[in-house]
Parts: sequence; C-alpha cells; structure tokens
Amino acid sequence: MSNRIEKSPETHTVFCLSRRRMLEGAALGGAIVLMAASTQPASAKMTEAAAGYQGEPKGDSSCGNCTLFRQPSGCLIVDGNISQNGWCRFYSKKS
Ligand code: SF4
Repeated sequence: MSNRIEKSPETHTVFCLSRRRMLEGAALGGAIVLMAASTQPASAKMTEAAAGYQGEPKGDSSCGNCTLFRQPSGCLIVDGNISQNGWCRFYSKKS
C-alpha cells in the first residue's frame, strides 16, 4: 500500500488556482505596501521641539561643528531654519 496521495486532475487544477490566487494576492499586497510607503516623504525630519533644538550653543557644542549641519542653515535630521550657533540633543561633533 502506498502512502502517496493521488490527486485527480480536478483537485490539481483547484490546488493550482488557489496557489496562483495566493501568489497574486501576495504580489498585490506588496504593491500596496510599496505605494503607501512611497507617499511618505523620502527624508522626513523631526521638529526642532522634538530634537530639543535651541538657538544657542551648549558649551563648545553647536550646529556649526556638528556633522549633521548643512550650510547655510540646514540639518540632515532636524527640520527648519537651523542656526550654526544652535544646538540640539542629537549633536554629533565633527572629528
Ligand atoms: S546640533 Fe547637529 S543635529 Fe542638532 S540641529 Fe544642530 S546640526 Fe542638527
């Protein structure tokens, strides 16, 4: 006696169709996730308040000597008009 499961042609067709539908559903779900992700800004920055930004240096630390500062008044991670004399809790000293 064999343990092999014999499938009728009808069973095989139903199995193949449902597997195909499952794969199509997975592909559609993936596309929806990608579309949803693409509606988000590519480089969302945090607010000044969230970063604890202040318009004055903290000791010797200031945006002007932070690796994340971008002239003339930008920051890679904090949104807004960033002064080179400012500072936030994500300060990263230039080496
Ligand atoms: S200290 Fe650095 S991370 Fe913070 S706002 Fe200034 S440039 Fe951006």
